[in-house]
Amino acid sequence: MNARDDIRAALPRWRQELHAHAEEGWTEFWTTARVAAILHDRGLAPRVGAEVINRTARMGLPSAQRLAAARRRARSEGADEALLHRMGDCTGVVVDVGPRETPVALALRFDLDALPLTESHAPEHAPAAGGYASRHAGQCHACGHDAHTALGLGLASLLQTGPELRQRVRLLFQPAEEGVRGAAAMLEQMRGIPRFLAVHIGLGLPTGTLATGAAGLMASTKFDAVFGGRAAHAAKAPQQGRDALKGAATALLGLHELPRYGDGESRIHVGELRGGGARNVVADRAVLRGETRAVTCEMSDDLFARARDVLEGAAAMYGLDCRISVVGQAPAAASDAAFAARLATLARSLRTEQDRPLFAQVQERIDMGASDDAAVFMRAVQAEGGMAAYAILGSSLKAGHHAPNFDLDEACLWPGLLWLEAVCRTLTSDEGDTTV
Ligand SMILES: [Zn+2]
Repeated sequence: MNARDDIRAALPRWRQELHAHAEEGWTEFWTTARVAAILHDRGLAPRVGAEVINRTARMGLPSAQRLAAARRRARSEGADEALLHRMGDCTGVVVDVGPRETPVALALRFDLDALPLTESHAPEHAPAAGGYASRHAGQCHACGHDAHTALGLGLASLLQTGPELRQRVRLLFQPAEEGVRGAAAMLEQMRGIPRFLAVHIGLGLPTGTLATGAAGLMASTKFDAVFGGRAAHAAKAPQQGRDALKGAATALLGLHELPRYGDGESRIHVGELRGGGARNVVADRAVLRGETRAVTCEMSDDLFARARDVLEGAAAMYGLDCRISVVGQAPAAASDAAFAARLATLARSLRTEQDRPLFAQVQERIDMGASDDAAVFMRAVQAEGGMAAYAILGSSLKAGHHAPNFDLDEACLWPGLLWLEAVCRTLTSDEGDTTV
């Protein structure tokens, strides 16, 4: 086999290995070490964890104990000791491909994290049948970020294998995309780079299709509200209690009662509500986790301000205090149409070995209807006069994103990778035009 065939064969292997070691946001220690080790084997010099992460910009960080436990687990699963040392308590990888003294022409983002979800072990679930289901209870690659990371590894490998690039390409392996918590901590790595591309698999598109320019990435704020009350005997002295559970439940209904906007889509959702500890005790604590989303930042900010009023108002009704914290945030974003068109033209020009089109269908625009903190990078590049795109690589899914039996079609990986390679080679070539 030649080097390209080796990389093609490695793609599903990498993806399955990453799948088996699912780690949720900010705990991707094993994943970071594995990615860095593979890149190192390709002759690259990846920077890891604390070397690339702005610690104070991390959002929705798990407790120090959980980070330490994840680090220990990574070590026990064979993560390289020297890499773990360099990482410190941060995850994530940045690697540049191409001659060191040249400018970075393009950056691409691949996300590393899994979801706090227990994977299906049903026999019809391919990862379970294939022996690569998550070995970490309560953590599961149910969005395809394992495939994204495999694509990033494949891309670095292909670019290293072929003719040397004329300019550099930067690959960002970002932690904690779920909950839009990680991109802001990597923003420094994007400064001064004129082009940015993020890719997500699936999202409703079947294998063989590609959409190069998603629009309508929704602004989103993720928040936790902790209601503090006072415990009391539920029969003998309920009047002495301050019921945190009722406050949180009232807030939940109030949040969903907030009016929608007439000039664009918005969402509000509470996905978790916990409180109380015993049937006959007035609950002194309740935690509500929710999110707002909207197609513009203004609308999203307005919705979150109203959500705050509801939370504080419900707390006041029951004599509670309410601590609200923002644990994730991303702006609204849209791909640059001219850049998306160029990426689509490139995709349409690619042929298989049998001289058929590499993609059965390529579209330039698609409505996203969801959020991704790649939007942080997109907005930053666009604010500096550069161009950004968010692409969706079709993959026929067995079950929807974030479901315990989510499974993707690995057949999407190689064509997607060939397109990414073509994008990198074109945008770093001498004729790489400076307007698009
Ligand atoms: Zn995702």
